[in-house]
Amino acid sequence: MNRYTQILILTLLFSPFLGKSNAVDSLTKLLNIAIQNNDYSQQCHFYFEKGERAYQKHDFEYAIENLKKALSLSQQLEQKTKNCDISLLLAKSYQKQSAYHQAIEVCNQIIDIANIGQGKHLPAAYHELSKIHQTLGNNKRAYEYSLKALQIWEKQQDSIGVHRANYQLGMIFFYQGNYDLALQHYEIAKNSAFQLQHQKYAYNSLAAIGGTYSRLGHTEKAIEYNMAAYQMAKKMNYLLGLAYSTHNVGISHYQQQQYDTALVFLLESLELKRQLHDKWGQTASLGFIGNTYSQLQNLDKGFEYWKASLELAKGIKARPRILEAYDGLANLNEKRGDFEQANLYWKAYIDLKDTIVNETTSQQLSETKTKYEIQKKETELIQKDLQFAKTFRYTVMVIFALLLLLSWLLYSKNRQQLNANKVLIEKNQKIQEQNQKLAKANEMLSQAFEKINAQNQKLENSNQELQRFAFIASHDLKEPLRTIGSYANLVRRRYQNKLDEEANEFLVFITSGVSRMYHLLNDVLNFSRIEEKVDTVSTNHIQGILDIVQKNLAQQIYENNTVIEVLTPLPSVRADEHHLVQIFQNLISNAIKFSQTTATIKIACKDIENAHLISVQDNGIGIHKAYQTKIFEMFQRLNRQDEYEGTGIGLAVCKKIIQQYHGEIWVESIEGQGSTFYFTFPKIKNQESLSSSMVLINS
Ligand code: ADP
Repeated sequence: MNRYTQILILTLLFSPFLGKSNAVDSLTKLLNIAIQNNDYSQQCHFYFEKGERAYQKHDFEYAIENLKKALSLSQQLEQKTKNCDISLLLAKSYQKQSAYHQAIEVCNQIIDIANIGQGKHLPAAYHELSKIHQTLGNNKRAYEYSLKALQIWEKQQDSIGVHRANYQLGMIFFYQGNYDLALQHYEIAKNSAFQLQHQKYAYNSLAAIGGTYSRLGHTEKAIEYNMAAYQMAKKMNYLLGLAYSTHNVGISHYQQQQYDTALVFLLESLELKRQLHDKWGQTASLGFIGNTYSQLQNLDKGFEYWKASLELAKGIKARPRILEAYDGLANLNEKRGDFEQANLYWKAYIDLKDTIVNETTSQQLSETKTKYEIQKKETELIQKDLQFAKTFRYTVMVIFALLLLLSWLLYSKNRQQLNANKVLIEKNQKIQEQNQKLAKANEMLSQAFEKINAQNQKLENSNQELQRFAFIASHDLKEPLRTIGSYANLVRRRYQNKLDEEANEFLVFITSGVSRMYHLLNDVLNFSRIEEKVDTVSTNHIQGILDIVQKNLAQQIYENNTVIEVLTPLPSVRADEHHLVQIFQNLISNAIKFSQTTATIKIACKDIENAHLISVQDNGIGIHKAYQTKIFEMFQRLNRQDEYEGTGIGLAVCKKIIQQYHGEIWVESIEGQGSTFYFTFPKIKNQESLSSSMVLINS
C-alpha cells in the first residue's frame, strides 16, 4: 500500500471528523502526490473535487480555476462522462461569476460530446443555456432551450429534471411579464418539489410564486408565499433562499408602500447576496433599495444605490439590469428636475435596447446555425445508424443468399448424384434383366442349336444312309437287270422265228424296259455319287467345260443343228470338272431335247456381288409357271415318256451340285417361247477380271 492510498483511506475515514479546511488540505496533499506520480486520472479527479468544494463555498473564481484544470486533464484522457460533469459545474460557476459567454461556450462543448439518445448531460446543458439566455434577456432562446431540456427529461422520466425545467419556464415567463403562465409552471414545479420532498426546490417554487403574485399586485398572496419561503429557507439555513425571500418580502412591503419595512428586508437581502457573491441578485436589491430611498425622498441615496446597481450590472454585463438601472436613474433625474441627465439615461437606455434587439437578431442567426449543426449532427448519427443498419441488412441478406445458394448447390449436386445413382441403379437392373433374358435366350438358343445339331446329325445320317441305299440299290440292281436284258436279247435272237409276233413284241417291251431301267439306275447312281469335293476342287474355266460338253453331245448337236452362243466372257470357277460338266451337259441336252425346231442356246455370265450369275437360255417349249420349282425335284417330269425321253433326275443332280458350292439354281420361262436357267457360283477370291475371250460356238 503506497502513501497515496494510505492518505486517501485516512481522508475518507476521518473526513466527517475533520474540519473543512483539514479536508481541503488532505485533498491538496493527495493532489500533489498524484502530480508527483504523474497519475493524470487522479489529478483530474482531485482538481474536480477541489472545484466542487470551492463552488459549494461560493468561491467561484477558485472553483473555475480548478475545474478548468480538471477539464483539460479529462479532455486529454478522453473521459467523456467526466468531461461533461466538470463542464456542467464549470458552466454554473461561470454563471455565478456572470461570465455568461464562457458559460455558453462550455455548454455548447457539452452538447457536442454528450450522448444524444440518453444520459443526463445533454438536458442539463440545455437547462444551463436556458438559464444563461434568460439572464441575458434572450427569452426566446431561453424558452427554446428550456423546452428541449423538458422534452428530454420527460422522455427519461427524470422527475427532478422535469421540476427544474418547469421552474425555469416559470422564470422565463416571469421575466417576459407573462405572470399567469409563469404561475402555471411555478405551481407544477412547487407540487413536484413537495412530491419529491425536496425542500430546496419547494423553497424555490414558493419564493417564485410569491414573487409572481407580487408582480400581479396580489400583495397579500405574495407576502404569504414569500414568508412561507422565508421560513423554509431559515429552517434549512439556506442562505441564497433567505437572500431572495427577504428581497421578495421587501418588495411586497414596498408595494404596500411600507417603505421603511421594505428597506429593512431589502438591505438584509443585499447583505446576504454580498455574502453569497451573487452579483446578479445584488443589482436587483440595489435597484429596489434605490427606488425605496427615492420613495422616502432620499434622492441622493436613491442615486447612490442605482449607480451602484448600474456599475455592478455593467461589471457582469447583465444588460436587463443595466436597462433597469438606466430607467431608475432617468426617473430619479426627472424627479430631481435634471432633464438633461434624465435624457442621457433615456438615450443610453434606448441605445442599449437597440443593441440588444440587433444582437438578438444576429444571435438568433447564430442560434439557427447552432440548431442546424446540432440537427445535422443528429441526422448524421441517424444516417450512420441507418447506413450501418442498411449495411448490416445487406450483409445479412448477402450471407443468407450465399447460404441459400450454397445449400441449393449442395442440394442440387446431391440430387444430381442421387438421380445419377438412381439412373445407374435402374440401368444396372435393366442390364441385369437383359443379361438374364440373354442368358435365357442363350440357353434356349443353345438348346435349339443342340436340337438342330442333333437333327442335322440325324439328317446327315439318314442322307448318308439314303445315299448308300441309292448307291447299293442302283449298283446291285444293275446286275440282275443286265441278266434280264441279256437273256431277253438271247431269247429274242435264238427263238425269234419260233415265237409268234405277239411274243416277239413282248420281248421288245422287255428289252426297252430293261434299257430304261438301266438308264434310271445309272442316273440314280450318278446322283448318289455326288460327293462333297468343295474343299479339294481345282479351278476350271467354264469355257473349257463347254468344250468337253460340246464333244460329249456332238451327236445330239449335230442331229438338231443346234447353235450354241456364248454372249459374254466366261469366268473360271473353283469346282470339280466332272460336276461342272454334269451341270452344263444336263442343261444343254435338255435345251436340245425340249426344242421345238432347231435349238438356239445362249450362254452368258454377269457378276453379282460375290458370285457369278450364269444363264443358259433356249428357244424350246418352255415350262408352265406352276412347275418351275417342282422340276428340280427327283423324278419330276412334265412330259410323257413317248414324247420326250428322260428319267427326271438331271435337274435334281444340277441343283444338288450347285448347292454344294453354295450357289442357287432357278428357271424363268414362258411356255412355247423358251426357258432360261440361271445358276450362281461363288467368285474365286481376288479373281482377276473375266477373260476377255468370247468364244462363239457354231455347230
Ligand atoms: P429328263 O430330262 O430326264 O426328263 P430332267 O430332270 O432333266 O429329266 O428334266 C425334268 C423335266 O423338266 C423334263 O422332263 C421336262 O419336262 C422339263 N424340262 C427340263 N428342261 C427343259 C427345257 N429346256 N425345256 C422344257 N422343259 C424342260
